[in-house]
Amino acid sequence: MIKINILALAVPFFIGFILLEYFVSQKRKKKLHQFEESIANLNVGIAERVTDLLTTGAFYFVFSWIYNNYAIFDIHPGFLSWVMIFLVTDFVWYWYHRFGHKVNLFWSVHVVHHQSDDFNYTVSTRITIFQAVARGLFWSVLPLLGFPPDMIAVFLIIHGVYPFFTHTQLVGKLGWLEYVFVTPSHHRVHHSSNPEYLDKNYGDILIVWDKLLGTFAEEKEEPKYGLTKPLNSYSFLWQHFHFQLEMLLALREAKGIKAKLKVLFGKPDDIDPVHREYLEEKLLNRNKQPIQLALQRLILLNTVITLIVLFFTLLLTEYVTTQQQILLCVFILLSIINSGAMIEQKRWVFYLDYFRLLVVGLICYTFIPSDSMLLSITILWLLPLFFYKSTQKKYYAYLYNG
Ligand SMILES: [Zn+2]
Ligand SMILES: [Zn+2]
Repeated sequence: MIKINILALAVPFFIGFILLEYFVSQKRKKKLHQFEESIANLNVGIAERVTDLLTTGAFYFVFSWIYNNYAIFDIHPGFLSWVMIFLVTDFVWYWYHRFGHKVNLFWSVHVVHHQSDDFNYTVSTRITIFQAVARGLFWSVLPLLGFPPDMIAVFLIIHGVYPFFTHTQLVGKLGWLEYVFVTPSHHRVHHSSNPEYLDKNYGDILIVWDKLLGTFAEEKEEPKYGLTKPLNSYSFLWQHFHFQLEMLLALREAKGIKAKLKVLFGKPDDIDPVHREYLEEKLLNRNKQPIQLALQRLILLNTVITLIVLFFTLLLTEYVTTQQQILLCVFILLSIINSGAMIEQKRWVFYLDYFRLLVVGLICYTFIPSDSMLLSITILWLLPLFFYKSTQKKYYAYLYNG
């Protein structure tokens, strides 16, 4: 029997709901999706899934180590302990999320989730591996309390699925559920930059924590989605690292240990906006040209292929060697960096694509390690070098119409 990793089914499951939301919104004549935003959101999610593949084991190992050495209580799975793990996880999440907005070090990883100006299911996929690490730190409380690692692993999957469904504009208020659970209406408030909605509704499944701790706001006014100061860039790398760079500049400027600690543990508002402007000036040259339909199709195709590769890499982990897994992950990461760069119509995608071609060749070779395969790959890869200028010209003509 073929051994598959059922967690991979999350990919078609979520993509199915994303498409459903898209078609329903089209039918209702609501424009909820901008092409560039949706692709950028999906790319962040793909990167998280693929890096997660390489780190999940490490989390399980750390949780087991804490549980075996430092567990305070001896908890066994049972009805009461499942209720307890639900309440504790949700409460810990509340604090993880609140810190994520209030402490620069944590905001630097959470900010990515809030960069989109859209609000739809694709936004829920905007989670990064760094955020997963920060979250894991908070969740270390669970094995410390004595919840067995297997129980934690199962529960975190359930807890991870719920928030996907709160990222939509298609679901209105939900009656009595609004009193107890985090609903799409509550989470719309959380993703808005309206002044009265800032730093509100941190909850993941239960809204009661926000109500008890004074961070609750009801959706009254129409929300305006995205950051107070929008990013206006689809560069994958910029999205992930702009805030860390801003912090570095602020750290360099801060005099004395106290000021430096304030940069790390202070509030995001305290970072001087001048740093962002300086970095944007230095590192970003945004192309404001609207992207042609043909390029849009190409980017979409690139994303679909990446999603398919991701799905099978996750599904068949049992049959893939570590070497193949690393190469497939590199291919996926290069593909999403390329997508972002193509949206911004960067010229360097040519070099990245040429390198991506080599990675594809290496992947083929690991599956069919024969001499003739090696020879074909080498010829195919080196051939463009002889027609370097004309290949490059043709490539740009194909991609950007010149
Ligand atoms: Zn948040
Ligand atoms: Zn969210």
